[in-house]
Amino acid sequence: MNIKEIVAREILDSRGNPTIEVEMTLANNISAVASVPSGASTGSKEALELRDGDLSRYNGKGVLKAVENVNTTIRNALIGQKLDQVSVDKTLLKLDGTKNKSNLGANAMLAVSLASLKCLAKLQNKELFEYITYGKVSLPIPMINIINGGAHADNSLDVQEFMIVPIIKGEAKRIQAASEIFHTLKNILKKKGLSTGVGDEGGFAPNLSKTTEALDLILDAINEANYRPGKEVLIALDVAASEIYDKESNAYKIDGKLLNSNDLVKYYIDLVRNYPIISIEDPFEEGDFESLAVLTKLIGSKVMLVGDDYFCTNSELLEEGIKSNAGNAILLKANQIGTISEMTKTIMVAKKNNYKTIISHRSGETEDTFIADLAVGFGIPFIKTGSVCRGERIAKYNRLMKIEDILNK
Ligand code: PGA
Ligand code: ZN
Repeated sequence: MNIKEIVAREILDSRGNPTIEVEMTLANNISAVASVPSGASTGSKEALELRDGDLSRYNGKGVLKAVENVNTTIRNALIGQKLDQVSVDKTLLKLDGTKNKSNLGANAMLAVSLASLKCLAKLQNKELFEYITYGKVSLPIPMINIINGGAHADNSLDVQEFMIVPIIKGEAKRIQAASEIFHTLKNILKKKGLSTGVGDEGGFAPNLSKTTEALDLILDAINEANYRPGKEVLIALDVAASEIYDKESNAYKIDGKLLNSNDLVKYYIDLVRNYPIISIEDPFEEGDFESLAVLTKLIGSKVMLVGDDYFCTNSELLEEGIKSNAGNAILLKANQIGTISEMTKTIMVAKKNNYKTIISHRSGETEDTFIADLAVGFGIPFIKTGSVCRGERIAKYNRLMKIEDILNK
């Protein structure tokens, strides 16, 4: 089926910043809409998110150039072409011609790539997860961010995300547990006179200053909500350590102290000993593969050590990690790389090398639920999509529960 029309427009993301939406229509009038998210603690090797820099609009954050790239260059090349994911993505890469997608913008490219994927599923009258699957579908375990710190909140917590990971059976049951723990935590915070306002990803942002204070509150909430920590609900952290790294002193600012990477290794070992932690993301700054390899050797058999800013969903960066035995898991964010085909390749490389995979939202999100379908269709074991609060996060959880229903029929 040929592509008949492609239209891009500027919309707003969950932070109220501009992002891009693309509608693709096929010759038989089947159409699909896709929109792309946007990060705040971005890895330096991520594909470029093209922003206008025109300070007279949206503080320079407009995406009209990316919109125009879709409506002219990309549209002209794709209109009348037969829709096929590999050739659409190849055309996008060729038109862009740069390593970091700085010509067209990864935001423009991903919106088109994703709209193509959705059209292909509709063309076969299939759900997106059903269309992309090549083997067994499975429902991912959610990692639900209930306390925010770092670049995602204005409090003094240095770790960016504190997540609960319900490992009980059934997607709806896991989401129910998360919601109950979230509301219990809210009551605990209220009683202590702590703020119950939420950060960018919907987690609470109480003014705590120590990592263990946040972890203790989470354990209290799990217990009070009648779940067993360590048995039914585990904990995951995203340290996003590039954000707390001080280049001059080559050390990390955490819990009011400056720790070098050896101290930080010990710090993590202590945390893992004292709390039911299943996963630590970006434990060191993104260039430090060596410390990540040391930590992987020491606790990698028990804990997922996840590269987000380290690997940027890029198969070449992941290969570097594999070669140096750094980490044992990868976070997957489509807009870090720019096309569905490249992300699929990264997933294949991860699976082949026994790296665990976690699909992820961005801190600036839209209502698009594609990551829920990608998780199920590609059999990705974990999904990180924020708190059980805020519409753009909830949309993904609701989609996962709907998929569970579809699969049970
Ligand atoms: P970001 O944060 O979307 O702001 O990059 C999410 C993360 O670091 O995992
Ligand atoms: Zn991260």
